[in-house]
Amino acid sequence: MFELWIALKDIPAEGREFHFTDQSLWTGPMRELGLPVKPGKDFEASMFITPQDDGFLVSGSFSGSVMAACGRCAEEFEIPLSGEFDSFEEPRSKDDDPLDECRIRRAKGVLDLDASGYLWEQFMLALPESPLCAEDCKGLCPKCGVNRNQETCGCVQDTGDPRLAVLRNLKIQ
Ligand SMILES: [Zn+2]
Ligand SMILES: [Zn+2]
Repeated sequence: MFELWIALKDIPAEGREFHFTDQSLWTGPMRELGLPVKPGKDFEASMFITPQDDGFLVSGSFSGSVMAACGRCAEEFEIPLSGEFDSFEEPRSKDDDPLDECRIRRAKGVLDLDASGYLWEQFMLALPESPLCAEDCKGLCPKCGVNRNQETCGCVQDTGDPRLAVLRNLKIQ
């Protein structure tokens, strides 16, 4: 996994802004996790980190896009993704559950923020679970397979048990 750690000790009291344009921050995990999406428009992110007494304020935003196949008609389309974030991150203390996600690590006594993990989490939050090219996408004909957004086929749709129709649609996806 592509990793990017920010050394927190170098950040002045008034905070510092970071910009991320390296595409492997996004394309790396997309590939490694085998997500069914391809890179679209380049991603850009900015992050402002402000030291606090016992942690760090992390805020910023990101935007870009990915290409994915529609869950109904299988046509590839672009999904714009963007988001804003604002959170307080603190180093793990001895009492914390070691399984809890922590974005700050202490290595040789200095604190680093896992910027790549943080940004990837934002990406996953913005990504729709089952993307549709359009809210009213008509999908594929379960009989002949034409894309019913583009063509009207002559198939007679049997209106039998609607629960079976759901199963047929599932097979095609
Ligand atoms: Zn569609
Ligand atoms: Zn048809």
